Amino acid sequence: MADRSRCPNCKEPVSPFAAGCAVCGADLDTRRWDAGPGLGNRVGSWFSSLGSGPSLPYGMGWVLVLFFFLFGGAILSFLFGWV
Ligand SMILES: [Zn+2]
Repeated sequence: MADRSRCPNCKEPVSPFAAGCAVCGADLDTRRWDAGPGLGNRVGSWFSSLGSGPSLPYGMGWVLVLFFFLFGGAILSFLFGWV
């Protein structure tokens, strides 16, 4: 797959949202984004690949536990330290 962050004409780095190359002026139309699903679709399919049912996907429990340890202390200190 072609590198979307570079101009297909001069290979200079370009903004993914630029309408044209700033160096050589080549058109950078949105067709270059049609090669695959969007980020949202890929993230969604990644999450759906973690589990196959409506219940908590495998692994997500540990993610929640990790989030609790990362942010639970901060939340508690915020509640009891500021109120
Ligand atoms: Zn260019």
